[in-house]
Amino acid sequence: MNPTEQFTFESIERQLGAAIAQGYEFMTCARYVAGKAAGSLPERTLVNRVDIDFSCTKARELAAIFNRLGVKGTFFVRLHAKEYNPFSFENYRVLKFIRDSGHEIGYHSEIVDQSVIWDEDAADCLRRDIDVLNRMLGIHIQGVASHGGMTGLNNLDFWKDTLPSDFGLLYEGYDTTPEFDLFNTSFYISDSEWTRWKCYDNGVQRADDRRSLEEHVQGGHPLIYLLIHPDTYFQGHFYE
Ligand SMILES: [Zn+2]
Repeated sequence: MNPTEQFTFESIERQLGAAIAQGYEFMTCARYVAGKAAGSLPERTLVNRVDIDFSCTKARELAAIFNRLGVKGTFFVRLHAKEYNPFSFENYRVLKFIRDSGHEIGYHSEIVDQSVIWDEDAADCLRRDIDVLNRMLGIHIQGVASHGGMTGLNNLDFWKDTLPSDFGLLYEGYDTTPEFDLFNTSFYISDSEWTRWKCYDNGVQRADDRRSLEEHVQGGHPLIYLLIHPDTYFQGHFYE
């Protein structure tokens, strides 16, 4: 397959369908925390995470695919991106559609970037961002995932000595508290190199393994942590 053909919306719908056919039960990050606490995770679990880095419009396409397939996911939303305004007329409609479809919405955090650029306390930025997102959508977010941007700073660093529960949250996307600890205990598959898949087995990268989701689900990993980005996918060509 031409490498970019794996990243059409049609292809990701087929690949997610392949995971369902292999018996994977999809869930949001919050439902994963609850299932883990209750000791009731399915034999084949797929935690379905979406980071909205650049395009809410494309996120709507992914949500529509999830809806057609009857699965749920967690969508992490940025609040300070140059690329989109979550409160623009169309994007707010999209976020309401995602919410009303029963998907989880979380905050795609850039609080370390904010603290340096604005000379403000990162914890204050986080509290304000959680309040704003909750108020905007009438929700109570349960999780945060840190965005890897272009500042050279690592938004994950904030969590080195801070617990999600200190902010009324259940989890951070890569946190290693026993309640979550997903990245290091799962088979993690991501499209974060754009038109190339990468994977980590229990937190260790399989450097040469560029197999797609569709190929990995044949392997029967009991717990898959899938991270995809709406911006990666397209109908006709990458730059549409
Ligand atoms: Zn991101």
